[in-house]
Order: sequence, then structure tokens, then C-alpha cells
Amino acid sequence: MASSTDDAGAMRVAAVEDYEPLIGAEAVDRLLGKVRRLGDMHVLNVNSTYYGGGVAEILSSMTLLMNSAGLKTGWRVIQGRPDFFSITKKMHNALQGGDINMTELKTRIYEEVAYENAVRNHIDHDLVIVHDPQPLPLIRHYRRKAPWIWRCHVDMSRPNPDLWDYLAPMVEAYDAVVLSLPEYAQKLETPQRFIAPAINPFSTTNKPLSEDEIDERLVHYGIPTDLPLVVQVSRFDRWKDPHGVIEAFKLARRQVDCRLVLVGNVATDDPEGQEVFASVCGSADDRIQVLSVQDSALVNALQRRAAVVLQKSLREGFGLTVTEAMWKGAAVVGGRVGGIRRQIEDGVNGFLVDTVEQAAERIVQLVRDPDLAIRLGAAAQETVRTRFLMTRLMEEWVDLIGSFRTEFHLQGAAGA
Ligand code: UDP
Repeated sequence: MASSTDDAGAMRVAAVEDYEPLIGAEAVDRLLGKVRRLGDMHVLNVNSTYYGGGVAEILSSMTLLMNSAGLKTGWRVIQGRPDFFSITKKMHNALQGGDINMTELKTRIYEEVAYENAVRNHIDHDLVIVHDPQPLPLIRHYRRKAPWIWRCHVDMSRPNPDLWDYLAPMVEAYDAVVLSLPEYAQKLETPQRFIAPAINPFSTTNKPLSEDEIDERLVHYGIPTDLPLVVQVSRFDRWKDPHGVIEAFKLARRQVDCRLVLVGNVATDDPEGQEVFASVCGSADDRIQVLSVQDSALVNALQRRAAVVLQKSLREGFGLTVTEAMWKGAAVVGGRVGGIRRQIEDGVNGFLVDTVEQAAERIVQLVRDPDLAIRLGAAAQETVRTRFLMTRLMEEWVDLIGSFRTEFHLQGAAGA
């Protein structure tokens, strides 16, 4: 196994100890002690994209942090044809409450691709975590010796009933389901746990940047900084409401002068992105800039320089971009939906809005009152430090994995 430090000692990944100035020595020791008690377990994560979207962002940091602490943690990505990802994106939308026509053709392609992935993936780990609906059916194709957990990141407060009827028996095959919030709980025999996501403060997206570094990224993309910046960073997805953001910005512009920057990427498992991007581009003008790039340093620079960060989602399991911006002390205006309602406390560490008009009012207020923006940003940063750093997320996983280790260990001993 590769070490987390190379021979020359120049290369390393963030370790739990690096969080000590943020969370204290006691929390660091407690977490490392829990990891030691797991012994020599080997954990596997399975999802459907290496980049683009919050799940890949969390997994890339979480798997490194766990390994650096001594918990062997792998990450595999399932492969799929475009028709597979078009179906799973429809499922993702329908889990959030959208419509879906559940045809036999769709379920056949979905199940076939999952089967092909099962054939080429040899999974013999001590615990398996399967993320979101794309790889959900994998479980059917293994003779299981270990616990399997389905971790769904989607806002499931009102899943489409036809889809849920189809998926629920597969979900029931798992030993546990992990959702981001108690509000997403479903009627299931399987035990359900609730773990909110978190961010890595040392990643390219979140690490500290100097004013020069911020300027360099903005100049690179031709983003002028002569006026206050209003920013939304999101995959190009209709649930992120980019058109609502543009409308709110246009309303705000009647009262204050500012610029809007919409930055988005397109995940490999999201075939709708190009279409949404193209429709948003139609609204670009001298004050509205739309960029489709994958550049975490640009995300970081924009969230740090923005006068207002918007996340005007219509559905959001948990908005990582919200927490990322809050960590940087930004004034964030979020849609009053899903996880964002738990991330932002309205008027305390950001604002929650229900409509385009409310979003416009908050933009105007924050552009006119930079002191208010600073106050909200300071409270936002403290919220993230105490509740949404990666070590908290890792500890909840380690606790859950530990509870299974005991259960399966005892079962194994009883059967022996
Ligand atoms: N992101 C990015 N570049 C972009 C848009 C998004 O790097 O152009 C990252 C963003 O910083 C965050 C993740 O992708 O880490 C999006 O996670 P979130 O939970 O906000 O939304 P999701 O895409 O998972 O619905």
C-alpha cells in the first residue's frame, strides 16, 4: 500500500492532526482512538463519478483522510453507457420529486449495467458503502459476508412513488441506509441513520488564498472586479435554478450596480448539464458572465471575493457549495429547501429565501451594507467550524462502521 508520505517527504495528504487548530486536541485524539479500535478493516466506497458534484468532492477528501488515519478505505466508480446515465439522472430527479415514466426498457438498462459492473468489480471488503441510486442494484450480485450501506445524498422528502416502489426492495437488501437529514427518512425495514455532509478546509476549493491569488484566478477568466460580485457556483442543473438567479439579479440591478458570475461544471454522470448550460448562456450580457469550467481554485477565489454568494436551489439534499462559501466568511443567500435550511440560520449566518423577489431584496441589502455581510460571514464561518468540517463527518462514519464491526464480529463468532 502506498504511504501517505512519499520518500522525499514532500508529498502528503491532509491528516486528522492537521485539524487540531480548528477542532482541538481532544477531538483529534478521540477520533484517532476510534479509528484504532476498528483494527484492520478494509472499507469500500462505490459511486458513479470521479468529479463534478458533491459526492465526488466528499469522497476525494474523505477517502484520503481515512487512509491517512490508518483506516483502509477504497473508492471505485461504476462505468456506464450514456443511456444508463440518462436513466439514472431521471431517477435522481424523480427521487427529488420529479416525474418519471418507469418503463421496462429503463429498468432493464439500469439493472444490466449494474450487473456488468458487478461482474468486473471484485468486492470482498469488510464494509461496503454504495452512494446514490446509480450503483444501488450492485448488492444483488454478491454473496455477502460483510455489511453493505446505501448512502443516498438526494433530498428525499417527497420521492416519486412509482420510482420508490421500484427501488425500495433493493434498498431493503442493505444493512443500513444513511441519509443527510431526518426529514428524508422513508418507510423501510432497514435501519436509517442521518449524517450531514461536510467540507475539507485544506482542499483546493477551500484552502486560504491571498488577495493576489484570488486576483490571478479572476483575471485568468476575464472576470472584472470593478463592481460587487454576485456569484452562484453549481452544476448546470434545473434544480439549482440558474434562471431564477438571473431573474433575481436583474431585479436587484434596478437598485444596485453589480455583476453576476454563474460558474458550473458538468458531471460525467449528468447528461442534462450541456442543455441547461446552453439555455443559461442565452442570458449572458455585459453584467452576467456564465462559465462552464472545472476549476476548484476559481470556485475558491469567487467565493472569497463575492459580495453575495447565492445558492437559490429548488431542491438540495445538502448544498456543499453553501458550506464552502460560509467557511470563507461569505454572505450566503440560499433557497429555503432541503439541507440548506439546516445549513443557514436565516438572518444569523446567512439568509434563506423562497422567491426570486426575496433573493433580489437580499442581494440589494448585502451590496448596500458590507458590514452586515461581514457579520453574517463571521457567524457562518463559526457554524462550519463547529458543525461541518470533515473530521465530524469522518467520526460519524467511524462510529457507524464500528457498530457494524461489533455486530458482524459477534455474529461470526456465534456461527463459528
Ligand atoms: N463544484 C465545482 N465546480 C463547479 C461547480 C461545483 O468544483 O463549477 C463543486 C462545488 O465546489 C462542490 C460540489 O461541486 O464541492 C457541488 O456540491 P453540492 O453539494 O453543492 O451540489 P451537487 O452538485 O452535489 O448537487
